[in-house]
Amino acid sequence: MTASESWSDWSCEVRVAVDRTSALGEAHALVRHLMDDVAVAVDRFRDDSELSAINSSAGRMIPVSRRTITLLDTALQAAASTGGAVDPTIGAHVKHVGYGTDIAEVRTATQVIRPGQVSQADWTRVKIDHDLSMAGVGAGLELDLGATAKAWTADVAARTIANTLHTAALVEIGGDLSVAGHRDEPWQIDVGERSGTPAQRIALTHGGLATSSTAVRRWRTTDGEAHHIIDPRTGLPSSGPWRTATVWASTAVEANTASTAALVLGDEAVAYLNEAGLAARLVGRFGQVWTTPAWPTEVRAA
Ligand code: ADP
Ligand code: MG
Repeated sequence: MTASESWSDWSCEVRVAVDRTSALGEAHALVRHLMDDVAVAVDRFRDDSELSAINSSAGRMIPVSRRTITLLDTALQAAASTGGAVDPTIGAHVKHVGYGTDIAEVRTATQVIRPGQVSQADWTRVKIDHDLSMAGVGAGLELDLGATAKAWTADVAARTIANTLHTAALVEIGGDLSVAGHRDEPWQIDVGERSGTPAQRIALTHGGLATSSTAVRRWRTTDGEAHHIIDPRTGLPSSGPWRTATVWASTAVEANTASTAALVLGDEAVAYLNEAGLAARLVGRFGQVWTTPAWPTEVRAA
């Protein structure tokens, strides 16, 4: 038996599922509490988050919580492992192209792109002092942990539910999904470009699955249409041949790091995914689907 609950938070759909149905209430509360804590730490839309404090103090280091340090470490690992294709210092660029507030609001009007440069993204200008629990970002840069914080939260929530509530668990936050704990039957997951669109069904026993897409978070600007995946090399929305990337890896963080990187890398995505031996599914601009050899085959409905 599986019990699950879905709700909206962080402008996305959240879902928790557990095998032991009586654990659902506690599992649900655990996810909500963790999401609240992560938001206080690194939500770029909250003026009172520690991330906002780091951004408004750019150029110097300030004291932050251990949770924020962990989330920054995760973001910097993602940057290092993708050669900077995933870069947490794209914050000012995301805003510059019009995504400065909640996506529902961004879509209500044509966003004005003002002339003028934003400092080149550079993740090596993020400084962390682990002993003193302090962090800072270089002057002119802004942090945005959008590519790793959701996935980190899904991983930690799923693992904590499995360990403390003694049940197999699945946690999904806006397309970043993590499963933990032992289960006789694999989880059946529908992979698509957005919820409700035609999907491939795969069986997942462990790890994390993440989808990044330029097809959903789009808006109008005075320079044409924009989306939320930034190429750190140009500071502009990525322009490669792939519009959606789904990756299955040992954690949701690893999966989302690779799915974001695939969209940024564009023409180089196939080589990057193959070399990394990742299980990935890409959807091109015209809807064509490509998968790596490691991608699981479809589960057929009985
Ligand atoms: P999706 O929201 O489609 O799942 P991602 O998981 O890749 O996409 O997360 C996209 C978010 O990550 C953006 O909204 C932005 O906050 C941030 N972001 C965009 N481009 C980059 C990048 N190149 N490196 C790091 N973070 C990025
Ligand atoms: Mg994602």
